[in-house]
Amino acid sequence: MPLELNFWGATRTVTGSLHALTHTGTQGRRTFYLDCGLFQGRRAESKDKNCCFPTNPSEIAGVILSHAHIDHSGNLPNLVKQGYRGPIYATPATIDLCNAMLRDSAYLQERDAEYLNRRRDRRRSVLSDWDEPLIEPLYTIKDAEQALELFQPIPMNGSFDLGDGLRLETVEAGHMLGSVSIVLDDGHTRFGFSGDVGRPHLPIIRDPQPLPHCDYLIMESTYGDRLHADEGTVLDKLADIVSRTAARGGKIIAPAFAVGRTQQIVLLLNQLMRDKRIPSIPIFVDSPLAVNVTDVFRNHQDLFDDETRAMLHGDLDADVFGFSRLRYIRDVAESKALNDLRGPMMIISASGMAEAGRVIHHLRNAIGDPRNTVLITGFQAENTLGRKILEKQDEVPIFGEPMRLRAEVAKINELSGHADQRELLSWMKPLVPALKQVFLVHGEPRQQDAFIRAVYERYNVLATAPQRGEKHKLE
Ligand SMILES: [Zn+2]
Repeated sequence: MPLELNFWGATRTVTGSLHALTHTGTQGRRTFYLDCGLFQGRRAESKDKNCCFPTNPSEIAGVILSHAHIDHSGNLPNLVKQGYRGPIYATPATIDLCNAMLRDSAYLQERDAEYLNRRRDRRRSVLSDWDEPLIEPLYTIKDAEQALELFQPIPMNGSFDLGDGLRLETVEAGHMLGSVSIVLDDGHTRFGFSGDVGRPHLPIIRDPQPLPHCDYLIMESTYGDRLHADEGTVLDKLADIVSRTAARGGKIIAPAFAVGRTQQIVLLLNQLMRDKRIPSIPIFVDSPLAVNVTDVFRNHQDLFDDETRAMLHGDLDADVFGFSRLRYIRDVAESKALNDLRGPMMIISASGMAEAGRVIHHLRNAIGDPRNTVLITGFQAENTLGRKILEKQDEVPIFGEPMRLRAEVAKINELSGHADQRELLSWMKPLVPALKQVFLVHGEPRQQDAFIRAVYERYNVLATAPQRGEKHKLE
């Protein structure tokens, strides 16, 4: 019997990754989920998309995770809440990252439900006939902890027997710590899943590796129509931004994702400080999640690239994420105390798009002063505070109040973890001779349609972008 695919999440969009693959062996049919990500978007749509799964959760044979990002792993606690008790296969680094990230995600789900219920109570106290049900969080920390117990390690760059004639192979995807691309082989058909494809030369992690040959491929297409600009080296840009702000006596506030981006920036600052290319100013990483995740990075030095290993100078106890001017802050009181410190200094804090978290307090404190700099370190979605700052709007709303933006706004966008069109095409090139069809996921329609054309023109290979619920037999 052929492998069967049922597309569910990250179809014609970039979030909520989940694809169901059914294998029929001598012992019967088994369905595996590839990823089980959280759909992140407007509240009502997210609720609809995250609540339901394509099959009864208690009947799934296994979940295979490509990497730890929440849009690939963040709906696992909900799957478990709805009855799933099977194994969740992931690399050791992905397991450790999920340990920090799923707890954090559950905490945010609980806080969000609390906020909505407080708002409901206020409305009911004014309007006695206000009829709004009590909101339950999508999942709780307890659900996340139950999910974490189901994780089972699979090797990075190795293979694993899923039983009944089905084998799993993994290769490094170069997208984030522990990320892999996957091949599933039932002895007749080889099916590949790219996960998110990274880029060569990113700090810390090794470059994406080519996937062994396969007949069918599910492939991400986030930047299917885009070429990343080559804007000089990121070290030079960062050195300039830090030096000129420090010379003004200003503060640099850098909103940064707690997972990946914060560690990249810290590593680059360590290099610049060591080479005396920036002044010796205090640097703070102010995010409890970032602190926990940095510990996970420290425990997986085996995944570092050669440049990062070279910084250890053969001393495996050395710490590339620690230097004398850098302080990690967990405590809320210490975070608040940063407001009273005068520049020059740098604060790296989450969230990456300044929509939540401690960074909003630091921005409120800093954006009115032209000596300061807001350093944007990644993609900013529409309507986020980060995007408004990046667009240099005269006034931006912080905690509901308009504030004048007088600080310098700088950005470094060389650290994107997603391959662009050229990099995606070269990643898939070795697969082309054996490929029968490519299914694109994890992209907006415009990116996907452009990439479908590019794949056909370059390689004469058929690519399609399936809709949610679309089913295919891999004959
Ligand atoms: Zn990702």
